[in-house]
Amino acid sequence: MLLAEHEIPVLLFEAEGDISDDLRASTFHPPTLDMLAPFGISALLIEQGLICPNWQIRMHPGGENAVFDLSVIADDTGHPYRLQCEQAKLARILADRLVGNDLVEIHFNCPVVDLQQADDRAAVTVDRGGERETYQGRFVIGADGAGSFVRQALDFPFEGMTYPETTVLVSTSYPFEEHIEGLSNVNYCWSPEGNFSLLRLKDFWRCSLYYDPDLTFDAAIAESRVQAQLNEIHPHPDGYEIVDRRPYRVHQRLVKNFRRGRVLLVGDAAHLSSPSGGMGLNGGIHDAFNLTDKLARVWRGADQALLDQYTRQRRPVVESAILQQADRNRKRMTEKDPAARARSLAEMQIIAATPALAREHLLKSSMIHGLRQAAEIP
Ligand SMILES: Cc1cc2nc3c(=O)[nH]c(=O)nc-3n(C[C@H](O)[C@H](O)[C@H](O)COP(=O)(O)OP(=O)(O)OC[C@H]3O[C@@H](n4cnc5c(N)ncnc54)[C@H](O)[C@@H]3O)c2cc1C
Repeated sequence: MLLAEHEIPVLLFEAEGDISDDLRASTFHPPTLDMLAPFGISALLIEQGLICPNWQIRMHPGGENAVFDLSVIADDTGHPYRLQCEQAKLARILADRLVGNDLVEIHFNCPVVDLQQADDRAAVTVDRGGERETYQGRFVIGADGAGSFVRQALDFPFEGMTYPETTVLVSTSYPFEEHIEGLSNVNYCWSPEGNFSLLRLKDFWRCSLYYDPDLTFDAAIAESRVQAQLNEIHPHPDGYEIVDRRPYRVHQRLVKNFRRGRVLLVGDAAHLSSPSGGMGLNGGIHDAFNLTDKLARVWRGADQALLDQYTRQRRPVVESAILQQADRNRKRMTEKDPAARARSLAEMQIIAATPALAREHLLKSSMIHGLRQAAEIP
């Protein structure tokens, strides 16, 4: 959509047959909403999502908490809240926006299987129902996710590591807000059994549950185990209605360069982080805005070297404000020692209750600080 806004023609090749409705990211941070607002996209997301004016870290089941109220950053953003809304809704809104736009062709069921580039062009070969077809353009953007073919074709190592635990995302229609007092719409919880998060969406709650590293995916998502874990959060002897359950492994990985020649990487193709703090999808959107700005200028005649500024601005911020921040969030929440948890909660309570400290904390956790840092990098 952004490229089309700059009147740059786009061919988009998607391996799957349709937009995925898989439940993945669900948090939009304030600056992402600020970026999407001029296109009318934020208003549509807000219509379909749930505004979260605050979020919290809490002890479970005691309920002692540190509540972060985003109104303290009202002077820093037009959207001083987190928006809980499924990422698939954004994808559908964007696809709808492009219907009838002559500048954009979307080709489903067309996995990219080869990549070539020369001084003056780049090309991809796609597999369309068993037939190979090659398309040329001035640039190729690899937005093909964690297993990116484009990244591999560039021979870019995806340096980093995989976290030991299996995470299971469980969605349930159970109204936790009616049974657990004082919840926000986003809650990061410590419990004697471990840690979990409770994130509310418009029609259901999403729980991130964590399991021992030695459990297989099948064992982790077994009905009995998931029910037992939900019952530890709140007893519901009739059994939880489970709308969706999805196991996944969490990685922390980053490429050294977001560009080689006429080929660029954005989103999960370039970086992966723990979902703690909900920054993966947001970071990819921030990449797209940053890159499009530069690509549009190069398209109209600026020197291609401008594209290196994209890596210079995004990579350090992705590393410090997304990967390392998400890692710190994860470490805090995976702390098991009760005394260390109590100290951590006390610190967070002081920060949350002190407007200047809360603002500083929220500028970082809401990804505003990182974007400001990036903008300063020449
Ligand atoms: C279970 C789960 C939960 C998550 N929760 C959160 C969260 O709470 N908050 C958050 O911010 N992030 C979360 N994430 C991460 C978030 O979903 C990703 O950061 C985001 O989807 C990245 O977007 P992307 O467009 O870069 O990649 P993707 O969304 O992976 O999109 C890549 C697309 O490329 C297509 N593709 C792949 N290979 C090819 C090929 N060779 N040719 C053509 N097309 C191809 C794929 O089919 C896919 O449609 C979660 C991820 C998972 C898996």
